[in-house]
Amino acid sequence: MASRRELSAARRIVVKVGSGLVTAPGVGPDPDRIERLAGDIAAVRRDREVALVSSGAIATGMARLALAERPRSIPEKQAAAAVGQSALMWQYEIAFKRHGLAVGQVLLTAQDIGDRTRYLNARNTLLALLAFGVVPIVNENDTVAVEEIKVGDNDNLSALVASLVEADLLVLLTDVDGLYTADPARDPRATKLDVVETITDEILTMAGGHEDGVSVGGMATKLQAAQKAAASGVPMVIASGREPGMLARILAGEPVGTCFLPKADRLGARKRWIAFAAPPQGRLAVDAGAARALTAQGRSLLPSGVTSVDGEFGAGEVVSVVDGGGREFARGLVNFDAAELRRIRGAKTQEIEARLGYKSFDEVIHRDNLVILGGS
Ligand code: GLU
Repeated sequence: MASRRELSAARRIVVKVGSGLVTAPGVGPDPDRIERLAGDIAAVRRDREVALVSSGAIATGMARLALAERPRSIPEKQAAAAVGQSALMWQYEIAFKRHGLAVGQVLLTAQDIGDRTRYLNARNTLLALLAFGVVPIVNENDTVAVEEIKVGDNDNLSALVASLVEADLLVLLTDVDGLYTADPARDPRATKLDVVETITDEILTMAGGHEDGVSVGGMATKLQAAQKAAASGVPMVIASGREPGMLARILAGEPVGTCFLPKADRLGARKRWIAFAAPPQGRLAVDAGAARALTAQGRSLLPSGVTSVDGEFGAGEVVSVVDGGGREFARGLVNFDAAELRRIRGAKTQEIEARLGYKSFDEVIHRDNLVILGGS
C-alpha cells in the first residue's frame, strides 16, 4: 500500500477503542459515546466487516464497585473486570441493536493466541461471526488471565486480532488525534505526523509509555501495535475517537490522525504467528557471522553459529534469536530442545550426530520457520 487513498478499499476492519473513550470516570460505560461509536461502525459496515476491540472492563468494574483507584491486587483487578465486562457488553448490545446489528463477545487470553491450535480456533470463530454479519467485540479475558502472561494492553491485542483475521485496516480510536513529534501539551513546536512509512528508532522515541488511572499503555503500546500490524501487512491509523464520523473519514482517505503503512513484504500467516503471537520460550545468542547469514542472506540457523542457550524449551517451540549485544532480531521454531542445543552449540554440522549420539536435524532453526524482526 502506497498511500492513504487505498484505505477506501478496506473490506475487513478492526477498530480498537480505549477505556477513556467509552467509559466516564466513576460512572462506567458512557451510553452516548457508545451509541455514537455503534452509529459510526454501522455507517461504514454496510459493505464491510468490522470487529471491535474494546477496553473498559476494569474501568467499568471500578465504577460499579465504587473503587476510587485502579485495584492493585490481581484478584481485585480480575473481579473488577468480571463486573465491568458484562456491564460494558450490555451497553454495546443496546447500542448496536438500535442499528440492527448483533454483537458477540470474544474474550481472549495470551495462550489462546500463543498456542497454534487455539489460535486457529479463535480465528475460525471470529471469521464465522463476521460471516454472520455480527460485530465481534473482543477484549482480553482479564478475569482469568494471569498478569505475568497477559497480552497486557488492548493496543497490542488489537494488532494480534487484525493479524488473526487478516484485516485490511486497523484503527485505534483514542484520546489523542495522532502521533506527534513531541508532547503537544509541553512543546509548542510539536507537529502531528500524517503518514509513517517505517517505524524507525526516532519514531519509537517519540512515544513514552505510561499507565494512568484508567488506560493501559499510551503511545508506546500503540507503536508496538503499529509494528505488529506493519509486519502483518495491515495498515494502521491512530485517530481521535472524540470526533464523530472519524471511521468514515479514515476510509475516505482524509488526512486525519496518523497512518502507518504496512511493509511491502507481508509475512505469511504462520510466520506472523511465530513472530508475534507465540511467546518465546527461550533465547539463543548467535555470533556475528550467523546473524549476518540470517538477516542478509536468508539462511537457516546452524549449531555452529549459536554461542549460548537460555531457558528450558522443547523442540518445536518458539525461541528468540539475539545478537552479541543481546538485541533480539529474529524468532523461530527450534528443531532441538534446550538440553540438546547446549550439547551441540558451536558444533559443525558433521559433528551433531557424534555429540548427540543420534542423527537429527542439520539446522537449529530452518529458514522456513524463521522470522527476521525488522524493528527499525
Ligand atoms: N482489558 C482491559 C479492560 O478492558 C484494558 C486493557 C487496555 O486498556 O489496554 O479493562
